[in-house]
Amino acid sequence: MWYKDVKQFKEVSGYEIDGKWYPRVTRIISIKSKPALDIFYEQVGSISAAKEITNKSAEEGTKVHEAIEAIMKGEEPVYEDWLKPSVTAFKNFLSFQNIKVVPEHIERRFVHPDERYAGTIDTLATIDGKFGVLDIKTSAAIYRDYNMQTAAYIAALGKEFPKLTTRWILRIDQTQSCAKCKATMRTKGGREKIKTASSSKKCEAEGHEWQDTKGIIELKEFPFWRDDYGAFLAAKKLWEWENDYWLRQAGYL
Ligand SMILES: [Zn+2]
Repeated sequence: MWYKDVKQFKEVSGYEIDGKWYPRVTRIISIKSKPALDIFYEQVGSISAAKEITNKSAEEGTKVHEAIEAIMKGEEPVYEDWLKPSVTAFKNFLSFQNIKVVPEHIERRFVHPDERYAGTIDTLATIDGKFGVLDIKTSAAIYRDYNMQTAAYIAALGKEFPKLTTRWILRIDQTQSCAKCKATMRTKGGREKIKTASSSKKCEAEGHEWQDTKGIIELKEFPFWRDDYGAFLAAKKLWEWENDYWLRQAGYL
């Protein structure tokens, strides 16, 4: 990526905490290539169109985070109509899955002073008697890349919270199903993505019959994080190598 000056590099890539600058976890892991992104760009047809969808889905993702975090705090948030299926599904999920959070842990910023990186977690949580990092995703699936991110969180927060032993991904999504076949449609960032099944052929020609949007909640624990943390540190080294020019100017290297 191209930066105008070191000020811009520092703003985009990290946080200033107590007068010291640290790169962000999400920025560091962006060094890892994501082959799925190439497919996405190809499907969308142009880089500018892809960027528009990406930005809009990031905004939507922020709104989902805000609503879900408010509910975990015990608040009754005001939210836009389109995310009602997610909110309803999450409230329903909480009626049988207890997730205990302390409000001060939500959107908490942290630093790993020895490895010198920083980040912001969604929250820490207690689930089924275990204490861990809880990260909310609004993706179509739980991807392995998330493990690198959350391993960096555990490693950094472990000193302050010795009981921190695990991590979860809480995936929140919403889709529509066809009443006639097994196709589903997911609307994100203004883009409608249809997944068809082998039973969809005839229906595709006639037109699907989309039902009401339904929320999807998936909670998955990833207790073994050491190996992922090793991968994170390797990614960090590579990110530092690539940004060596700016990191020297920032006084980091
Ligand atoms: Zn159909």
